[in-house]
Amino acid sequence: MTFEDLSPHPSLLQALALKGYAQPTPVQALILGAEHAGKDLLVSAQTGSGKTVAFGLAIAPELLGQATRLEAAKPKAPMALVIAPTRELALQVQQELAWLYAGTGARVRACVGGMDPRKEQRALAEGAHIVVGTPGRLCDHLDRRNLDLSHLRAVVLDEADEMLDMGFREELERILRDAPVERRTLLLSATLPSAIAQLAGRYQRNAVRLAATPPEQAHQDIEYRACAIAPRETEHAVVNTLRQLEPAAALVFCATRDGVNHLQSNLSERGFQAVAISGELTQPERLRALQALRDGRARVLVATDVAARGLDLPALDLVLHSDLPRDAQVLQHRSGRTGRAGRKGISVLLVPFRLRAVAERMLKSARVKARWTPVATLEEIRALDHDRLVKAAGELCGESLEDDLGVARTLLEKHGPEPLASALVRLLRARLPAPEELVETASFLLRGKVPRATEHRPPANAPRFPVRGTSASHAQAHAHSRSPAHGPPTPGAGPVEGSWFQLNVGRLTNADPRWLVPLICRRGGVTKADIGKIVIFPKETRFLVSAGAAAAFGQAIRRPDKKDPAIRIEPYRTESRSSQDERLSPRPLRPPRSQRPDRPRRA
Ligand code: AMP
Repeated sequence: MTFEDLSPHPSLLQALALKGYAQPTPVQALILGAEHAGKDLLVSAQTGSGKTVAFGLAIAPELLGQATRLEAAKPKAPMALVIAPTRELALQVQQELAWLYAGTGARVRACVGGMDPRKEQRALAEGAHIVVGTPGRLCDHLDRRNLDLSHLRAVVLDEADEMLDMGFREELERILRDAPVERRTLLLSATLPSAIAQLAGRYQRNAVRLAATPPEQAHQDIEYRACAIAPRETEHAVVNTLRQLEPAAALVFCATRDGVNHLQSNLSERGFQAVAISGELTQPERLRALQALRDGRARVLVATDVAARGLDLPALDLVLHSDLPRDAQVLQHRSGRTGRAGRKGISVLLVPFRLRAVAERMLKSARVKARWTPVATLEEIRALDHDRLVKAAGELCGESLEDDLGVARTLLEKHGPEPLASALVRLLRARLPAPEELVETASFLLRGKVPRATEHRPPANAPRFPVRGTSASHAQAHAHSRSPAHGPPTPGAGPVEGSWFQLNVGRLTNADPRWLVPLICRRGGVTKADIGKIVIFPKETRFLVSAGAAAAFGQAIRRPDKKDPAIRIEPYRTESRSSQDERLSPRPLRPPRSQRPDRPRRA
């Protein structure tokens, strides 16, 4: 089917052609069906289904009638109103309608929370044919008499279920009551709970109910996976899933703002290009984060459900539920961010062991089938990395410039091919965030039992950690401590030269290089490559910082740290600590929030 078959308004048909949209999506074909012209519609449609263009085309007859253009004179009052739950969605809708109506002379204005209301007031006073806004801001303009609903011929409620969930019922009812009775009302919603049916019953006239995608066929392009994990290894599971799937763009959901901020900063410290959006960001900050994801500067967006509402992120490959969704509807909303416009997507749920039954019920009620699969292990990711590194290095071996070849020949003579190839691999590998070992998760999957936190021990055959030249990124992979029975390290005696520092957390407080290394890097402004041997004692941890970085590191750690103020890093004193020192040693500290055992998953 083509758009011509649906006979949309000619001016809009031209805009579609300019945009390169040749075929209507299913929701567009459905809404534009001739039998629905002029009728109120109650449509279940997912984000990404092309619903904005669908309702944009549908209301064209109400706006334009038989005319090809709207009158150039300033409109007395808006003729169409679109209400959307969030400013992002409202702004996207405005942009979408702006290109669709570009040839008609229609003025499309936005009224959204977080933007300057006086500017909006001026724009409304200058005249608008179509107004797109969020419920609260629209009501503010009604209160101030900036907005006149008396000429409305069409009202569209986009993502109506979201708006009710966000507590906008009163605002919606007020707007619908104030709008002229003789209007057309389109109500679009991803889900159709009874509250939506009630709203439709009260404010629509004999609405035709349309389901663009029957529920059982919804999200067909999404592959669902569920991974049972030990709850305190959630972050490691996120890391390994991202490393395994290597999505070009992923959206990771957390239940709380704190969770979002924590995960985003930890992912960034580990070398992922991660950005976050949560409610506390200003509008420009949110837009910057989204832009970074769109243009590829960021590959991971961490968000809460509220912050992610209404975002248009068409190219997501992966939705990762770091915290389980609240219910089946939220699961569908979150997952619907991927697998859009014919692209395949993956939705991965990280399920704490004890919540397996909850997750099963949720999947069933969302009518999706998930494949239960273990989180990728460190070894699996290393095997994937082997192939990826071979490929990446091979791609670099393509064309060579004469200058480069000159340097290459000298290097070959001096070092030989193998050390050179391995140096190349090392460079490429340094870009990859280190995968994690999920000790508890593996143990549970094997024996159905979670070991105690302090029982982490290196396997008998684990390499002594670290060996000469091993960067912390490698070391992290063997994230194990040497027992104090090996004796305290003597500065200068280790395999790597540098200076020793100490931290006031130890094995009794869950010290583990896997979270210590990112913390040390952040506090000292160094990279993993600058950290050498790490030795964990019951109450403290000592570690080596490379000679080149030690002086700056010593300065950087003096700065107070807002994030983990109780964790102190200081130069290690060479005179060995007496038993009195041990007694005076700081009280055991708690590791950062995300590392704490039994951390509540929700605020
Ligand atoms: P929406 O569901 O309205 O958020 O639309 C998702 C994306 O699909 C938007 O970027 C639209 O511009 C795009 N889109 C809408 N209709 C079509 C179509 N017929 N063909 C290709 N892309 C479309």
